[in-house]
Amino acid sequence: MINIVLFGPPGSGKGTQAQNLIEKFNLKQISTGDLFRYNMKNGTALGILAKSYIDKGELVPDQVTTDMLIEEVKKPTNTNGFIFDGYPRTANQTDALETIVKDILNDEISVCLSLIVSDEILVERLLKRGETSGRTDDSNEEIIRTRIKEYYTKTAEVAELYKQQGKYVEVNGVGGIEEIAAKLFAEVEKISL
Ligand code: ADP
Repeated sequence: MINIVLFGPPGSGKGTQAQNLIEKFNLKQISTGDLFRYNMKNGTALGILAKSYIDKGELVPDQVTTDMLIEEVKKPTNTNGFIFDGYPRTANQTDALETIVKDILNDEISVCLSLIVSDEILVERLLKRGETSGRTDDSNEEIIRTRIKEYYTKTAEVAELYKQQGKYVEVNGVGGIEEIAAKLFAEVEKISL
């Protein structure tokens, strides 16, 4: 199996590139952000809880997020592996994912692909996305800056953990969508040879 952690700050293009990767390698994408938005839209208890964090730009608590992820990983699929998009976002989630992949899939994370984009470009992209996405967390600069801050205080350490395992690869996330996709494909091809 190919199990990819797609990593990077909010607005770095994870969703866009996950789409390219699932088509190229026949993978199943699990996006915790999408799952939360689905629950918020449907007004589930999980959605109501998540909304109270997401609307402030904060992370949803680990346990809630991890339980939701486990349910998705357990669903049967005939793909070649998974793309984890937006998870893990904390050291605790990184450890949880290792256990989940081992216990449920009897496998391991193949690689952590990290999209690198500067803060100023991120803010610009997210404000622009907010004009059409209807996402409350894209609607103002203060919430966006909180999300980027959460990324540096809580999420950046995830990169360190994958670095220690020799599984961390950085890719420039600025440029044409196809150009970035090609670089990501090349990295996946290296590990799946
Ligand atoms: P982005 O990458 O653009 O910030 P996402 O769609 O990945 O957007 O996530 C939106 C929000 O959902 C995050 O700001 C956070 O509040 C919540 N969220 C998503 N994934 C996680 C996670 N793994 N742990 C905690 N909160 C999460």
